[in-house]
Amino acid sequence: MKLFLASGNVHKAAELQALADAAALPIEIISARVVGGMPVVVEDAGTFVGNARKKALALSRTLPADAWVIADDSGLCVDVLEGGPGVESAYYAGPQGDSAANLAKLVAVMCDVPDGNRGANFRCVLFVAGPGGVELIFEGICGGELLREPRGGAGFGYDPLFVPAGQRQTFAELGDAVKNTVSHRARAWARLAEWARNRSGGG
Ligand code: IMP
Repeated sequence: MKLFLASGNVHKAAELQALADAAALPIEIISARVVGGMPVVVEDAGTFVGNARKKALALSRTLPADAWVIADDSGLCVDVLEGGPGVESAYYAGPQGDSAANLAKLVAVMCDVPDGNRGANFRCVLFVAGPGGVELIFEGICGGELLREPRGGAGFGYDPLFVPAGQRQTFAELGDAVKNTVSHRARAWARLAEWARNRSGGG
């Protein structure tokens, strides 16, 4: 099946295509860029599901009625910050969306938080909008803890501060091969893959 990706980010299309291929799924991810571009969407719904839904429906409205669209939204939710920065993860340190500044801000905000109280989880929502108003939500969560100082050079965003449960190294030390087996995105994708398999198996 074809899934139109509600994002202007070409890397995201390649990343999702790689996940589909790795799972041997008959899914073709088509970037919004090749179908006229991603409409501007203000991500102000306040939840990952709400933001992903807004993006998916915005692209859906520009496509034929039988098109399937996928959108994602993700972020880091810190226990002592009552789930923040959450949907604001990309803009935690300001509207410029500077990920090094976001990471530095989190280090500073968390500096007095004691060990044992530094829990956090990454969350990813994949939202699929299909013909006839079908709306499907696949969520993945990866729990872990935040270090005091960043470690590791791989990954992006908050990866150097986050040690997933059951590991001793950060996502940025573990690298993509390990990250992709336990990450919030991988877990959300696994749920979508199960749906896609059942769907193709069931005709
Ligand atoms: P997006 O919704 O995938 O664009 O992610 C929003 C923001 O959440 C990113 O800009 C990062 O700050 C953060 N984020 C989401 N996923 C990850 C991850 O896997 N590692 C580190 N940061 C992430």
